[in-house]
Amino acid sequence: MKYYSTNGQAPVADLRKAVVKGLAEDRGLYMPEEIHKLPKAFLNDMPQMRFQDIAFNVASAFFGDDVDLDSLQDLVYDTLQFDCPVIRVKDNIYSLELFHGPTLAFKDVGARFMARLLRYFIGKAEGSGANRLVNVLVATSGDTGSAVANGFLGVEGIHVYVLYPKGKVSPIQECQFTTLGKNITAIEVDGVFDDCQALVKSAFMDKELNQHMMLTSANSINVARFLPQAFYYFNAVARLIALGHKPEDIVVCVPSGNFGNICAALFGHAMGMPVKRFIAANNANDIFYNYLQTGKYEPKPSKQTLANAMDVGDPSNFARIINLYSENGRLTPEETHQRITSLISGATYNDEQIREAMRQCYKETGYILDPHGACGYRALQEQLQPGEVGIFCETAHPAKFKEKVDDILGIDVEIPERLAAFMKGEKQSIPMTKDFEDFKAFLMTR
Ligand SMILES: *Cc1c(COP(=O)(O)O)cnc(C)c1O
Repeated sequence: MKYYSTNGQAPVADLRKAVVKGLAEDRGLYMPEEIHKLPKAFLNDMPQMRFQDIAFNVASAFFGDDVDLDSLQDLVYDTLQFDCPVIRVKDNIYSLELFHGPTLAFKDVGARFMARLLRYFIGKAEGSGANRLVNVLVATSGDTGSAVANGFLGVEGIHVYVLYPKGKVSPIQECQFTTLGKNITAIEVDGVFDDCQALVKSAFMDKELNQHMMLTSANSINVARFLPQAFYYFNAVARLIALGHKPEDIVVCVPSGNFGNICAALFGHAMGMPVKRFIAANNANDIFYNYLQTGKYEPKPSKQTLANAMDVGDPSNFARIINLYSENGRLTPEETHQRITSLISGATYNDEQIREAMRQCYKETGYILDPHGACGYRALQEQLQPGEVGIFCETAHPAKFKEKVDDILGIDVEIPERLAAFMKGEKQSIPMTKDFEDFKAFLMTR
């Protein structure tokens, strides 16, 4: 399979290059040249299949040309060592719990898969005599760093540097990437998130540094991080069908920020995943919501909200969604908008509405929502039509946002063992200024 750039100015890449580079040379996002339809027999059998086997079938359609099937199966099984269960919250509303992985958020799935795929390609390069450590640089304001660090933890041949702003990430988040040791180095930058991102960008552009060491990013736009998220949507649909629901009634609702998660669901749909329609639930960052209403895409600076992992003012995967539904620019913007609005509706909620949804759900059902999942729950509650069955992604465990959830619901959310274990570990990080020369000097010694 070849991957082309959404900006159309870069050469097509094979999977290996798309994964190692992340972004195309023209700063566009990579798109697969073909989207293989899954066979009817598989779609019929899904309700009787296990999650891992469903995922392997979906993975084969994406990556089967580029990764031998035995290795791909190992890769998928090793990624999915935890379940993404479908839990009935009330009536026809279900939660797709994506927080049973190591860092209790959905980004674990993509990060783990990407780490293993990268390892696979390094292994092949070793076979051909080239043997170099691959260094992953990632800037984080919290959640991405923990998912990437844990996804890559202990993966041979790869070293991860997580750059984070000193004093600006929550203690729970910080311990998820500073206590790991092994092949993970946390770098505490005396600055803000943008400084961390600037250091990473400068490093990728520095000739001398790139000659000294092989650098790659684990950005969320990477095809190896976003496509595997389709696995759990197929599984969720299979579970709903097994419960007796009809595919033509299923509405999938995704709390969205950078739109990687919902984009994977939309790719799944293009592969034949039987779903009626989608809802993209936003917090107060309503850029996609406004696009659906007006057909105009107007990025804005992000606003800080309760659901902070969705505080995005210029969603990076928007270009992918447009490219998918415009058939790589063949359709006009009006036709594309028409296609998108016939499949996807939007929702936008301010912090007070998020709080209300959390309280109402807890009071009525006892189910504890985190602020992100709450946007998804509320959108289904408001938009589900008679006869439809809705499923929303619960993208993080409520204990990840314990102070907020406790405060809003007046409860004491239990901290899962995995999270507590991180908090007991010893914090280790390397202090760094925001001056690129200091960061470079440090990397040159590695
Ligand atoms: C990253 C994240 C989101 C947003 O997902 P996108 O793929 O960026 O749309 C939502 N909720 C949580 C908890 C997240 O960490």
